[in-house]
Amino acid sequence: MSKFYITTPIYYVNDKPHLGHAYTTVAADVLARYHRMIGDKVFFLTGTDEHGLKIRKSAEKAGKTPQEWCDENSAKFELVWDSLNISYDNFIRTTNPSHIEVVKRAIKELVEKNLIYRGKYEGLYCVDCEQYYSPKELINGLCPIHRKKPVKLVEDCYFFKLSAFQKILLKLIDDKGLIIEPEERKNEVLGFLKSEKLEDIAITRERVRWGIPFPENESQTIYVWIEALLNYLTGIGWQGDPKELPEFWPPDIQLMAKDILRFHAVVWPAMLLALEIPLPKKIFAHGFFTFAGQKMSKSLGNIIDPVEIANLFSSDGLRYLLLASVPFGQDGDISRGKFYDRYNSDLANGLGNLVSRVLKLAKNKKITVYRDKNFQEKVKVIWSNYQKALEELAFEKAISEIQSFISFVNQFIDEKEPWKLTKTDINEFNNVIYTLLESLRHLAWLIYPFMPETSNKIFSALGIDKDEKTKEFTEAKKFGEVKFEKISQCSPLFPRL
Ligand SMILES: [Zn+2]
Repeated sequence: MSKFYITTPIYYVNDKPHLGHAYTTVAADVLARYHRMIGDKVFFLTGTDEHGLKIRKSAEKAGKTPQEWCDENSAKFELVWDSLNISYDNFIRTTNPSHIEVVKRAIKELVEKNLIYRGKYEGLYCVDCEQYYSPKELINGLCPIHRKKPVKLVEDCYFFKLSAFQKILLKLIDDKGLIIEPEERKNEVLGFLKSEKLEDIAITRERVRWGIPFPENESQTIYVWIEALLNYLTGIGWQGDPKELPEFWPPDIQLMAKDILRFHAVVWPAMLLALEIPLPKKIFAHGFFTFAGQKMSKSLGNIIDPVEIANLFSSDGLRYLLLASVPFGQDGDISRGKFYDRYNSDLANGLGNLVSRVLKLAKNKKITVYRDKNFQEKVKVIWSNYQKALEELAFEKAISEIQSFISFVNQFIDEKEPWKLTKTDINEFNNVIYTLLESLRHLAWLIYPFMPETSNKIFSALGIDKDEKTKEFTEAKKFGEVKFEKISQCSPLFPRL
């Protein structure tokens, strides 16, 4: 048994859970479920990022304490993940006292190693925003929100020696000591590391009151991005000692949208190198999608609530449609119309129809085991392609294997016309129905990571105990070993829309 540790980013608690969050999280959940299915020991971590000035301000506006505000908003994420059947093992919140304590220990360690030092931060500060802006962020030299001229401020702060890690990061990424995928994203990071000199970064703020105090100097708080990254360690029970790492460390896959890749591919591994902690095995940055050709953004007001889409297509439907629509890692466009089409073709007419067709044919029949050579060969190929696709995070390819198996089975029904066989050849009828039921069992397995509820419905219609799933996966993948004794009907899996 091998271990598999997967993370999503922790999501900013001021945001409402949207389709973009759901995309990353569903993808991670499919991988977590797939690895559990094949018998790996899995840890799946997600959570919320809960510090910083903007959070304090939003809380103030709402007449709440920052902690109350975080509690309420973080719970919204948990609710959405529950309704989408996200099977995380821990939901980490950066306001957890245990996270806070361990972050302080880690920072202390870096101070002792002389990788954090005291300096001066100089920047353009908007007094009303209580925030620094880079010259690029200003509009005609003015604060983009208040249209006021920012003041030049100098404050004491602490710096992390990021510059010391440029060479080693380049080498590690180049030699695949740190795998970044897809290839284009890796090349972007390499290009950046080759062309720009890494500067040391300020990792504390003097004026932010909602954050983790810097251990040596409590008038400073640790910059939220820096402490947030450590969630990947604290979320699996790290206590702050680099020599004592949790059993799941390092992450096998860290999944994220491409906009936060640079931070995860440069600052995060540099912090780990500084702490002398092994690096994650793979960082994977997926693309963005537009919705009906439009970018989704708060300012355009077209942020989509994943629960609203799940109410239309079911939770399984949403999970499937998100991953079937766009090759993972690339940008793409989705829309309600495309979702309707795909739902009707793949799920209502495809999978749903096949399941109800077969269950009807098998109703009240006594079926004995039969091993169809063609099907034995076919499922071997399907499983091998499917597993290869999921190991490569090519969800859309795994899905097309499922679809190709559904077509194969439908074609078999059309050729055999089993409804005629009851009168002409009862033996052949038995063999055909057994083969069809066994095909449904394989489908229930194949769809399990993507559509866990539907998978369970099929298993239970086939009279297969859930314990079947704890069986050795290599056994379950064989064709023609299982007996079907109690077939029941199920209500339409995906009613046509
Ligand atoms: Zn301002």
